Amino acid sequence: MSPGIDAAPVMVASDLDRTLIYSANSMALTASDQLAPRMVVAEVYDAAPLSFMTRAAEELLEGIVERSVFVPVTTRTRAQFSRVRLPGFGCGYAVTTNGAVLLHDGEPDPGWSRHIQRSLGAGCVPLSNVLEHLTGSPAVPGLLRVRTAEDFFVYSIVDRQQLPSAYLEELGAWCLERGWTTSLQGRKLYCVPAPITKEAAVAEVRRRSGAELLVAAGDSRLDAGILELADIAIRPAHGELHSDDFTRAHLTVTSASGVLAGEEILRFVDDVLAQATPAAY
Ligand SMILES: [Mg+2]
Repeated sequence: MSPGIDAAPVMVASDLDRTLIYSANSMALTASDQLAPRMVVAEVYDAAPLSFMTRAAEELLEGIVERSVFVPVTTRTRAQFSRVRLPGFGCGYAVTTNGAVLLHDGEPDPGWSRHIQRSLGAGCVPLSNVLEHLTGSPAVPGLLRVRTAEDFFVYSIVDRQQLPSAYLEELGAWCLERGWTTSLQGRKLYCVPAPITKEAAVAEVRRRSGAELLVAAGDSRLDAGILELADIAIRPAHGELHSDDFTRAHLTVTSASGVLAGEEILRFVDDVLAQATPAAY
């Protein structure tokens, strides 16, 4: 996560789940089993492997981490993030909890934490109101469990088949009126205060690092801001933004989907770095 002395300052900000790492259910492998790519385990949970990337993707990431200011940017809580084991993780900057926490060498940045606390005061209702709305009666079919993330935001484990489609729209509108945003990713439905964004934390790291070029990758609506902020962006051909048909002039969409899209994203970033920092080659 530190560029070489001669390298131009390039910052790479990437989402993790369904962008770089994939659960068994989100791999979307379509070729026959004997042609499947070799994989590495990126996360173990309850003593069982949970998230993966291809071996080629891990090798690409190793090179990218060495040659750029690489910043993992995730909606995972600190505890959930700490389970992810990938090259370079644990040193440099990382954005967790959807931007509420900025880690530097594994420790929360106190200045950023103060900034977040101040910004939560204005324009959005307290977490308890949203929690009450989600857990109150009548119970919503398909809303299985409701959790809070480090007291910053709320997410629900959902059964998408059972969840009424009108409910998502109603909840989105209800949240919007109260300064919160929603995002549905896999089996998780997130409700997040509007001031807590990945892009605000990424902009702060960019300012501190003095990076001239920002490359970003992500797959969900919570990533739209970092893709907008970036000079060069890429997203996989799956996920919420793909369903939304999210496009921008500076945004590339992978040709692959699933775990192979993760590898394609890293190959794309590797190419960008090769062009931006030719002296390093
Ligand atoms: Mg994601």
